[in-house]
Amino acid sequence: MVQITLPLNFLGTVYREIRQALVDMGEMFDLLEVPPEVADKPGATPLQVNGGRIAFDEVKFAYDPDRPILKGISFAVEAGQTVAVVGPSGSGKSTIGRLLFRFYDVAAGRLSIDGQDVRDVTQESLRAQIGVVPQDTVLFNDSIGYNIAYGRPDATREQVEAVARSAQIHDFIQSLPQGYDTQVGERGLKLSGGEKQRVGIARTLLKNPPILLLDEATSALDSETEQGILDALRAMGQGRSVITIAHRLSTVVHADQIVVLEAGEVVERGTHDALLAAGGRYAGMWARQQSEQAEDGADTAGDDAG
Ligand code: ADP
Ligand code: MG
Repeated sequence: MVQITLPLNFLGTVYREIRQALVDMGEMFDLLEVPPEVADKPGATPLQVNGGRIAFDEVKFAYDPDRPILKGISFAVEAGQTVAVVGPSGSGKSTIGRLLFRFYDVAAGRLSIDGQDVRDVTQESLRAQIGVVPQDTVLFNDSIGYNIAYGRPDATREQVEAVARSAQIHDFIQSLPQGYDTQVGERGLKLSGGEKQRVGIARTLLKNPPILLLDEATSALDSETEQGILDALRAMGQGRSVITIAHRLSTVVHADQIVVLEAGEVVERGTHDALLAAGGRYAGMWARQQSEQAEDGADTAGDDAG
């Protein structure tokens, strides 16, 4: 028995670790997918950000030529403003983020930042100017300080603490027996979803990019935790150009403009109030989510009573 169960248990552990590693990679590469075909153009110059106006002009894109994903979409993020892209899952929201990073090239149309076509600038300079907070921040099996400084190995402890304060996680870290040296991740302290997102926000603040891409940054959180993270994300968005991609509409209420995407087409655009008043797709999505939330609340209350 022992001879059989030992190897099986061992394999089980290894399998779980490998699977977890794959899940982490999957989460990271969901957005940060790097297909080899996109290369810098000869003589590509660094992106010069001056305000950070982002413009999608009649952008078309398909992963597979037979199946168009974006069918000619246009919208602009004015310098320092926030544009939310909402729509059902599969409508092409994350694809917009991947094009902004130039993980793929547009099939037609143009995507530019401060007037520079992203195909004309170096990928390194482009990616250096865009900060991402994904749905789930990937943590490495290392100290929490390392995880915040990830990508900025030259950051000083003072800088790391400053961004942790802004992300409102410094006090929590200080309360840990080993402070910033506490090991986190699979083999260390397990952080809650909200704490992980705060690490992600601190990490992005340290990068200090003029452009931010938030892809479902709060969708893995419960609504109570979400509120705190939303405040931190909004503070981070001040003075930066932000594209926020969301399925859950609570994250987009304050956006300067909301773009509603459906099957790769912009079907509506406007502010939250204007779109509610228009009584169209967005108003319908909003009403549906409000009633779902009310139901969830009722369910929870019922569970508590039972
Ligand atoms: P959303 O973020 O709105 O849920 P996505 O932009 O991720 O949607 O995906 C839009 C469509 O493109 C979906 O139908 C999805 O299956 C498809 N898709 C996404 N990534 C790939 C890929 N790497 N290869 C082929 N199809 C993809
Ligand atoms: Mg998506």
